[in-house]
Amino acid sequence: MAVEINKELCNGCGKSKEPLCVRICPGNLLYKNATDKAEIREKRDCWDCAACVKECPKQAIEICLPAEIGGRGSTLQAEKKDGKIIWYLNKVDGSVEKFKINV
Ligand code: SF4
Ligand code: SF4
Repeated sequence: MAVEINKELCNGCGKSKEPLCVRICPGNLLYKNATDKAEIREKRDCWDCAACVKECPKQAIEICLPAEIGGRGSTLQAEKKDGKIIWYLNKVDGSVEKFKINV
């Protein structure tokens, strides 16, 4: 699985030296690269906790799901809104399923 970071959406959390995703990752796997974008050090070390996915205010981080869960090539994104987390299951055919969870 592991995460993918969309470099178009990531703004590096502005001038922050320790962006939200970097701060929240329990494995210290994320860092801000020379172009001020978030980067993952080693994908195979990611245990898919989704903390960074939920924390990113730009929805720039997606988890790649195994075929058994979301279907081949599907990903999961999250958005915090009004005390809820909205999860987006992005399928390979372009369709999106939405789930709301209270936080
Ligand atoms: S939290 Fe999102 S916007 Fe901020 S650095 Fe990480 S990926 Fe980029
Ligand atoms: S999913 Fe969890 S372990 Fe993987 S990079 Fe994000 S915060 Fe770190």
